[in-house]
Amino acid sequence: MAERKTGTVVHQELITPGLMRFRLAPEGDSHFPEYEAGQYIALRRDDCKLTRRIGVAQNGKPTYEPEYDPWGRQTVGPVTHSYSIASAPSETAEHGWLEFLLALEDGVHGLPGRLSEALFGMGPETGCHVTYYNRIAGTLTLDTRVQDAHSVLMVGTGTGVAPFVSMLKELRARSDGSDGRRYTLVHTNRTPLELAYQDALLEIEAAGRFDFMYLPTISRPSPNVSIDPRIGQGRASNVVRHIYGLPTAEEEKQTSAKSDVSKVAAELALARLVYPVLPRHLRVSDLRERVDPASSVLLTCGNPASTADLRATAARRELRIEVEEW
Ligand SMILES: Cc1cc2nc3c(=O)[nH]c(=O)nc-3n(C[C@H](O)[C@H](O)[C@H](O)COP(=O)(O)OP(=O)(O)OC[C@H]3O[C@@H](n4cnc5c(N)ncnc54)[C@H](O)[C@@H]3O)c2cc1C
Repeated sequence: MAERKTGTVVHQELITPGLMRFRLAPEGDSHFPEYEAGQYIALRRDDCKLTRRIGVAQNGKPTYEPEYDPWGRQTVGPVTHSYSIASAPSETAEHGWLEFLLALEDGVHGLPGRLSEALFGMGPETGCHVTYYNRIAGTLTLDTRVQDAHSVLMVGTGTGVAPFVSMLKELRARSDGSDGRRYTLVHTNRTPLELAYQDALLEIEAAGRFDFMYLPTISRPSPNVSIDPRIGQGRASNVVRHIYGLPTAEEEKQTSAKSDVSKVAAELALARLVYPVLPRHLRVSDLRERVDPASSVLLTCGNPASTADLRATAARRELRIEVEEW
């Protein structure tokens, strides 16, 4: 196990009540280990509200409930999890800190997740110290995953955009465009506000130091609010289906539904579906050419539920896919 150190949060920015960006400075005069864009580090707080395992649900997954002490208070203790680094290695070399994009997790029984709640609660009363394990790991890096592909399709939903932000900032810092690859980022979150790093990504695209196309979409547009035409709509997996000429997952479920129950469920899902729409300046035919399966690789990360549909699309279009599961 790597050495444990204590860092200090030097910048904290609430993007929405459930999404936060923060920067962590290393312990004392030390430096974080060198890293590659796309890697992650383990963080811990000791003031997390703990839970205990109580059994297994029908789907085979363990179930948890808050753990209480004899006086009826929820017990408090350490929780450690991995977090992708959203800063570029060149930023860390210059400033010393690591940057993270953190979501407030929906934990058990509608309570927030243990560590994310503690990290969101950092402040003058609770302290701005975060323990970290002094080892940076992970293989979702361009060197490891891209190999000979000429076109890289990155798909980042929610905080899953963090490793790609790190890669793109690093490419911008280093690149004179000479690696000859095309980079395309499909970046999806529920609302425009939650498209963290949108400005930085638009700026990287506009700077044109390497071949980069930014494709932001939102999955929960409000009916009465007009959206910036540079932002499209739809879940990332459906946007990728659209690019590759496939119907949405919801449409396919409706077509294949056999029983009355599954037909009703499919109808309901279809009624709620936000159809994939590209940002106004992009044409699907151009994109399809840009990320053609023969010369491309799709990189994504997140939980298995969110990556399963991308795997299925990649298999159908014989597109190489590289996934890091969270
Ligand atoms: C490589 C990697 C990179 C990641 N990068 C990011 C990132 O950049 N940003 C980000 O926000 N997140 C990231 N995550 C997710 C992050 O590690 C945490 O899983 C997330 O923040 C939730 O932690 P939590 O303690 O708040 O939630 P938890 O309290 O851990 O709750 C999450 C789920 O864990 C289960 N659970 C609850 N109690 C227990 C228990 N006692 N023991 C075991 N399981 C329990 C429940 O199913 C619950 O729904 C990453 C994960 C990985 C693996």
